Amino acid sequence: MKKPFVTLEKLQEIIKQYPTPFHLYDEKGIRENARRLQQAFSWNKGFKEYFAVKATPNPAILDILRQEGCGADCSSFTELMLAQAVGFTGDEIMFSSNVTPREDFAYAHKLNAIINFDDITHIDFFSQIAPMPETVSLRYNPGGQFKISNAIMDNPGEAKYGLTRAQLTEGIKKLQGMGVKHFGLHAFLASNTKTNDYYPELAKILFTTAVELQRETGAHFAFINLSGGVGIPYHPEEQPVDIFAIGEGVRRAYEEILTPAGMGDVAIYTELGRYMLGPYGCLVATVLHEKHIHKDYIGLDACAANLMRPAMYGAYHHITVMGKEDLPCDHKYDVTGGLCENNDKFAIDRMLPKIDIGDLLVIHDTGAHGFAMGYNYNGKLRSAEILLKEDGSFELIRRAETPADYFATLNHTDYFKKCLF
Ligand SMILES: *Cc1c(COP(=O)(O)O)cnc(C)c1O
Repeated sequence: MKKPFVTLEKLQEIIKQYPTPFHLYDEKGIRENARRLQQAFSWNKGFKEYFAVKATPNPAILDILRQEGCGADCSSFTELMLAQAVGFTGDEIMFSSNVTPREDFAYAHKLNAIINFDDITHIDFFSQIAPMPETVSLRYNPGGQFKISNAIMDNPGEAKYGLTRAQLTEGIKKLQGMGVKHFGLHAFLASNTKTNDYYPELAKILFTTAVELQRETGAHFAFINLSGGVGIPYHPEEQPVDIFAIGEGVRRAYEEILTPAGMGDVAIYTELGRYMLGPYGCLVATVLHEKHIHKDYIGLDACAANLMRPAMYGAYHHITVMGKEDLPCDHKYDVTGGLCENNDKFAIDRMLPKIDIGDLLVIHDTGAHGFAMGYNYNGKLRSAEILLKEDGSFELIRRAETPADYFATLNHTDYFKKCLF
């Protein structure tokens, strides 16, 4: 059974001030989870989690994670701005971008962020913009298929990211020639993994590669970045990963591969997004309509523009009908939004208790890649984001968009004034 982190009474209190739909975040859950991660990797002196800003790009959330000792992983100009605004500086910022514009590299350099090159040509591209830093990271793409005990996890050979193995050697030699003293190695080979073996297996690949590269080039490796990809149980029947088993698995690989190679000073970095925030956010919506034709539909005031994952990936998001948790799930519904797009469905053929107009629905696990992937199709407006604080109070951390926001980028702002509503 998946339970919301918020009660119906609390939601009713929030709704008096801020109408649905909105994304709600659980500060207590975010902090406790971040502390568990730090503890699981406390065996590594230099460990640092660089939260993937793209997952939940809100300064209030970033600030909570900063207080818990995390850095920020950015991949665009505005993500760098968010990181700077919250007070991240220098090596608290990882810049893991791809297809990077000049201005982005220039800004990342100005912030003294750690640059994680996605391609060998970016070395020369960057060096024409700014002096090469002393510490630089390279993103590795081993190609082929990434398997864990014969199960195909993903296809790096089809992924646009990273340098080939041969390019890593060439890139390091080139960077050494430009005065780089310390290196990082990074890879992201599978997303939303639900096995405790993902990080340990990835670590083995990166550790082995770093040892080889050290022998080939004499390069000093300051850190290995395991990036993101640790998953969460969206479905109630899935088990959460065991972050302590994951930390222990990485430690074992470290002791087996890095320590004997005299590389026991390497720091472990992560760039988790989903794992840090996913379960600690939910989308709260109100039932506007019910419709009975060839199927039974429940229409919400939220739509795929507020949460794209079900429409885009067919992703499962659990739904709780607030106040009806103990009723039998004896009604089969498609739960939809109002986009003129038939894939705008939060759930298809979902067994739920009988739903009535006005019911409050909590759509679970929207804390990462939820609000962030929102858009304005059909003129739908982005929702508010609200933080449920540890003391039970709540704070609006992003207001909902208004029609004026929707019109704001048009070159004749008078258009907006012509509208009567
Ligand atoms: C998206 C992304 C992450 C975070 O991925 P999650 O699946 O949310 O853990 C980390 N690093 C990079 C470079 C990414 O693109």
